[in-house]
Parts: sequence; structure tokens; C-alpha cells
Amino acid sequence: MKLREYEAKKVIKEYGIPIPAGFLIRSADEIPAHFAEIGDKFVLKAQVDVGGRGKAGGILMADPANAGATARELFGKKIKGLPVKEILAEERLDIQHEYYLSITVDRSSKQPLILFTDAGGVDIEITAKKHPEAIRKITANPLMRDIPPFLLRELVGTAPKEIGGIINKLYRVFLEKDALLAEINPLVTTPKGVFAADAKIIVDDNALTRQGFTVNRDLTDREREAEKYGFSYVELDGMIGVIGNGAGLTMSTLDLIEFYGGKAANFLDVGGGAESERVMHAVRLVASVPSVKVIVVNLLGGITKCDEVAKGIIDANIRQKVIVRLAGTNEAEGRAMLLAKGYEMLDTMDLVVKKAVEMAA
Ligand code: GDP
Ligand code: MN
Repeated sequence: MKLREYEAKKVIKEYGIPIPAGFLIRSADEIPAHFAEIGDKFVLKAQVDVGGRGKAGGILMADPANAGATARELFGKKIKGLPVKEILAEERLDIQHEYYLSITVDRSSKQPLILFTDAGGVDIEITAKKHPEAIRKITANPLMRDIPPFLLRELVGTAPKEIGGIINKLYRVFLEKDALLAEINPLVTTPKGVFAADAKIIVDDNALTRQGFTVNRDLTDREREAEKYGFSYVELDGMIGVIGNGAGLTMSTLDLIEFYGGKAANFLDVGGGAESERVMHAVRLVASVPSVKVIVVNLLGGITKCDEVAKGIIDANIRQKVIVRLAGTNEAEGRAMLLAKGYEMLDTMDLVVKKAVEMAA
């Protein structure tokens, strides 16, 4: 999960990385209350979940005389299609130079990879393409809490020495917050010292609970419903609804749909040991997407019992056609129940998918 800028800045501040004074606002009327704390030069930053806000018009400069109007303008905008609901109002830094600093996991060396360049800012992607040699890199031993000084010197080069300390602090953030990415772009020099003008942290989804982060993304009604039942649920843009149990079976069902030239509208993994009521909710949820023309249910009975699944499908009582492949525990009972109600049962996953693709076409 990507933290928003203000959340990421709060984290790095706790680790001693200097950030500009600032406040989160949800309405332009809140601006005047912060005049005294921020000073006479503002930067207003849309807190939307996309990168490159600067170039997309999501970062606006203001002063006390026009800050309210500028905030209103920003609240009225969409940045790369996303509405602006929150603005981080900050003291405007007097930027002398913009650096780039990031820490990710390097999958080939299986170590944290730290990148630093003097050419930071909004054009970092261009720098990376045209002048990859300008980006210095080191990999860090994940068992070490600190980056050794000689490696820090190598990274920092001729940039101000205090940046070495900031790299070490960001490295701590990266390790201790279970981050997949910790980035400061730009890290800036100003007459008052070095500051993180922007911050981005992606926390490993598997660590959200122990890190105490709550999901900040707005869920759709259907996603919220899926979360309530503990289903893994994803929407795509085809016409076939897919229900499976287990990530492997569900993904291979999607692959097979693709193989036969079809397109899935969504997919839902009911997980292990699904009782009839859960299956009923799963079928209704998948069927509730208007573009779904036909539903493939591909379930393997283990702890999950096929007769429970059959009852769930029947109880869901949806308008779309449901094509079922069931195998495993209580298979015979499940099949008999579905056949008695006129459901189409096919013996292999290959056959159900082929049939569904034909029907959707
Ligand atoms: P991004 O485009 O989403 O990465 O947003 P950033 O927070 O990185 O802002 C984009 C650019 O706006 C930065 O690279 C700076 O050039 C500029 N900017 C951001 N904050 C300030 C500030 O406090 N003062 C000045 N002068 N420029 C800023
Ligand atoms: Mn940035």
C-alpha cells in the first residue's frame, strides 16, 4: 500500500528527517487558521494517489492573499482523473538544489538497493533514461542497521555531507516499516538546511496489520462487500465472471479464458472451507457486475464440500447462466443437486471455460 505524501512525511519525520511545516486540509476555509504557522509563502499539494502531480497541475504556489482561492481552485481539479479531497498546505521551501533518493529491494541481489542522484526533481525518469550513469547505486546488507560511512560517501559524492545521515535514517524507515519503497524526490537544499520536499513510501501489504496502517484507498461498494467476507476480489473489463478457490486455481482459470480468446469481467477467490452461505454471497457479488454475461465456477473440494458449494450456487438464484466444474469432497452429491435444478455441469475446467467463452461471445 502506498502511503499518501502526508502519511509518508509523518513517518520520516519520526525518524528525524527534516520536513517543511505543513497542515492537511479538507476544505479551503481551513487555510486562514494556518497562516501564522506556515509563514507567508505556501505550496499547496494535492494528496492524490498518483505520481507526477507537479507536471499534472497538482502542486500550486500561493501566498496568504490568494491561498484560499488557490486551494479552492485545487479542490475543484482532477489530477490524472482523481478528485482532490485533501491538500497538504506547506511552507514553501526556498529550493537551491533538488536531489533524488530512493530505497527499494533489488530482486537479483536480494538486498536493499539505494539510489541517489544530484539530478532529482520532476524529470527523474528522463535522467534515468538519458543519463543512467548520473544515478549512483549501492546495495546494502539487510542485516546491518546502518550503511557504512564509505558507502554513504560513495553515494553522496559532492552533495552536502548531511545527506549521508538522511540516507541512513531513510534506510531505518525502509527496514523498520517493512517498506517495498522509500523515496524522497526531491530532497532539497535550502538556506535553512536539507529538507524532504516530497516523500513516498510503499508498505508491503502483508505487513499492514503489524505496522498498524489502515488501508487508505477508497474501496468500491463491491470491494467493501468482498472484504467483509474475506474474498480476494478483482474487477477486470470482460464479460465472464469467475469464481474459484485458491489463488492457483483461480489464476489458471483466468489464463484458460485468455487462451480461448475470452475476457474475464472479474474474479473471486472464495478461499478454503467455503460454506454454502459464503458461496451464495460470492456468486451474487460476481453476478452484480452489469457486464457479467456468464459465470464460471471452478472449485476443488477439499475442506470445501461440493454439496455446500452446490447449495450456495442454487440459493444465489441469479439471472446469469452459471457453468460449474466441481471435483473432490462430496462431488457426487453436489453434482446431483445442481443437475436436478438444471445447471450446466461439465467435467473439466477446460470444458467449462470453453463453453463460457462461447456463450459470452
Ligand atoms: P510530484 O510531482 O508528485 O513528485 O510532487 P513533488 O512534491 O515532488 O513536487 C513537484 C515539484 O514541485 C518539486 O520537484 C519542486 O520543484 C516543486 N516544489 C515542491 N515543493 C516545493 C516548495 O516547497 N518550494 C518550491 N520552490 N518548489 C516546490
Ligand atoms: Mn516528487
